[in-house]
Amino acid sequence: YYSDNTIVYFNGNFLKASEAGTNLYGQSLHYGYSVFEGIKSYRTDQGTRIFKAEEHYERLKRSAELMHIPFHYSVSQLTDLTYELLERNGFSDAYIRPLVTCSPNMSLSKGKESYLSLLAWEWSNGYLADKMKIMTSGFQRPNPKAFKVEAKVGGHYVNSILACQDAKDKGYDEALLLDENGNVAESSGANIFYEKDGTLFTPAKGNILPGITRQTVFEICSELNIPVKETFFKPEEMRGADAAFFCGTAAEIVALDSLDDVPFTKNWKDTASDKVQQAYMKRVRLLSL
Ligand code: PMP
Repeated sequence: YYSDNTIVYFNGNFLKASEAGTNLYGQSLHYGYSVFEGIKSYRTDQGTRIFKAEEHYERLKRSAELMHIPFHYSVSQLTDLTYELLERNGFSDAYIRPLVTCSPNMSLSKGKESYLSLLAWEWSNGYLADKMKIMTSGFQRPNPKAFKVEAKVGGHYVNSILACQDAKDKGYDEALLLDENGNVAESSGANIFYEKDGTLFTPAKGNILPGITRQTVFEICSELNIPVKETFFKPEEMRGADAAFFCGTAAEIVALDSLDDVPFTKNWKDTASDKVQQAYMKRVRLLSL
């Protein structure tokens, strides 16, 4: 993720990654009380472009607000700093990780002071696997009565690590987590869609992180006249469907091979999902459809 020359933004300054110290007496380190984002930038004909920077930084601010973390940067300040970070590192196709942490304070009341870090690393190729084999996880997503599930909070990802590692230990690429009612929610780090008879289905909001990529899929579907429905459904309703994919900033649109060893049946190239995937890859690089 970083080398001796990598520059990060930390607490008001650009400095070498190796020189950014962290305070040991903080709620973020001890309790997972931090908020963050995952953003991508792409090389385009018009230079390096951060995809949906505004949406990501609006969400970061909203996450901080929901978690009572004081955070006073504006969206445009954050965007400018991120472009500067990319430029200082000479990155074009990159993954950007803004992180807001709280210290010094060890109490269980709201954060008093926060620190912004901006990290970036080069990321040109796609996701981990071409077509992912996934399993229904025994781990549930955090319950909305116990967590602010629509916020991107450090501590929530302990649940993601447990589910993802469990799936890998069992020979799968990823986990599909259900909500407390047994409905499909999302993976450890992406939203999910499945396709049946040309219509796409995705879990309704309430128990998921409402992804920015998920929103982009809705926009693409509307442009391409692909019907899409937000609804609650059980894993058995999507097993054996025509196709399915995960979507997220890092995952982009990644096809799923099977759920619980039951394959998705249609040739990917013949699906509406494939059209969405192609449109997404064009959109992030500012290419017209
Ligand atoms: N769900 C979870 C749990 C995630 O971590 C992510 C990645 N941020 C997503 C969904 C997809 O969100 P986005 O499209 O905004 O990256």
